[in-house]
Parts: sequence; structure tokens; C-alpha cells
Amino acid sequence: MEISEIIAASGNEGKIKEIIKIFKGARVIPMREAGFDEEIEETGTSFRENALIKAKAVCEKLGKPALADDSGLCVDFLGGAPGIYSARFSGEGEAANRKLLLERMQGAHDRRAHFECAVCLYLPDGKMFFGVGRTDGHILEEECGTRGFGYDPLFYSDYLKMSFGEAPAREKNKVSHRARALKDLLEKLKTL
Ligand code: IMP
Repeated sequence: MEISEIIAASGNEGKIKEIIKIFKGARVIPMREAGFDEEIEETGTSFRENALIKAKAVCEKLGKPALADDSGLCVDFLGGAPGIYSARFSGEGEAANRKLLLERMQGAHDRRAHFECAVCLYLPDGKMFFGVGRTDGHILEEECGTRGFGYDPLFYSDYLKMSFGEAPAREKNKVSHRARALKDLLEKLKTL
């Protein structure tokens, strides 16, 4: 299926760049440029549901195809937490989230974790398409590197053999949960 214009239901420049890179054939417009400036409450109980809520809200307001993502860090030792609550883990921002994660992981031998991402493309006729992606690694004992955002300095990537905090954006984007979810969606659209 060919889509010529997509509204990116995100205010994050890095995410928008990634969408542009993967959806090469389409004109990708950030939602604020397209005139959407409302806050969308993420009330879903899964990454997929939250991505759907965001894409649907933007599509219904603007009448154009909208693409949204939702992602987070899932830690085995914490039973999958912080998961969909990754951004709100400490309630005090990303640096405090990392500090809280280190506290919760004190003494943990099993440090396996993965980032997970769901993307949703919602069309004006109500059709919706999803993509999912994950990337595996483990939680370091202390922060390593200053690149990226969020939990990146604490996440050692099994694929890159370095922390996401040390990885150049180009390297991280090759293996990231978000890139994988976008590629998954693109593959599904190709078969339609
Ligand atoms: P959202 O998908 O923008 O709502 O991201 C949710 C939260 O998950 C972010 O605030 C980060 O804490 C975390 N997160 C998601 N993706 C990444 C990533 O690639 N690196 C580090 N943290 C991430």
C-alpha cells in the first residue's frame, strides 16, 4: 500500500527523523506543524494500545493518516517493569528514573532487559496497522556514556556490545526497538 503523506503523532525530533528515514516514499509531517497541539493521555494497558490511542486521536482530528509509537524498558528481574510506565517510573524525570532503576536492581544477578516498541498507522477510513520491535540487553551496574536519552546509559546492548549511552545514533538506530517496529510495519504495508 502506498501512502503519500503521514502525520507523525510525536513531538520528539529524533523519532520523527527515524520515521522519515524508514518511510522514504512518504511526506512525513510532525503533528504540531500539521496543527495538532493537544496533550494525548496514554490510558492504554499495553504499548500497542497506547500507540493506537495516539495515532487515532491525531488522525481523527486532522483527517490524515497518522503514525504513533509507544515504547519502554522491560526488566526481567522487575517482572517487566517499568514497561509502559517507563517515562513516569519515578515521577521526576529521566535522571531520577535511572537512579530509581539502579536502586531497584541492587543485588540483582539476573539483569536481562529489553526495550519494546509498538507503532500504529491509523487511516481516515478507520483501518489500522501495527508494527512491533524489541532489542535485547542488560542493565549495567552504573551509567555508561552520555549519548541518547532515557535509560540509554544503563542499557548494555547485546548486539552492539556497548551501552546505548555510548553508541552513536546511527549504530543505535540500526538495532533499536523503534527502527525494528517501523520496519515491521513497513513490511506489512508492502504485502497489502
Ligand atoms: P515514549 O515511547 O516516548 O513514551 O517513551 C517512553 C519512555 O521509555 C521514555 O521516556 C524513556 O524513558 C523510555 N525509552 C523508550 N525508548 C527508549 C530508548 O531508545 N532509550 C532509552 N529510553 C527509552
